[in-house]
Amino acid sequence: MEETAKLAAAQTAAAALKELLKKRGLRPTRHRMTVALLLFPNGPQNVIPRHCTAEEIHHAVQNSGTQMSLATVYNTLNQFSQYGILRKVSGGANCSFYDTVTEPHHHIYHETENRLEDVSPHTPEFQSIADTQRKLAPNSNVEVMVRVSRPTKIAS
Ligand SMILES: [Zn+2]
Repeated sequence: MEETAKLAAAQTAAAALKELLKKRGLRPTRHRMTVALLLFPNGPQNVIPRHCTAEEIHHAVQNSGTQMSLATVYNTLNQFSQYGILRKVSGGANCSFYDTVTEPHHHIYHETENRLEDVSPHTPEFQSIADTQRKLAPNSNVEVMVRVSRPTKIAS
């Protein structure tokens, strides 16, 4: 893409994100806009499915040349999830992911790699568990999470 076209696209994305924050009731501060642009570089209409940790976002913020503490990044991400801009998904102990896809969906958590993977809602095994749970809890959002880990080696 041409430089001017790239710049125009970035400005369009920033303007759309600013509108989204305002619409959700969040003031588009410089910190919030920095984090929002890192998460949604193509704007809120063209969401790239991603699962980020606060540490990853903090690293990206630092690489972009902006000074922001990890605590501020955490606060911003938690606000975004409270206001429905992101979804917070728990991984392992003390590990949360921020999902750019806000609709409920299934996940596989790979504990060894500390990685979250999206699962198609049409995967029969996941669908069957979700259907059973939906019958038990009507009008609820049901998401299935499968955790994959290596067995702990115990010295004998
Ligand atoms: Zn996801």
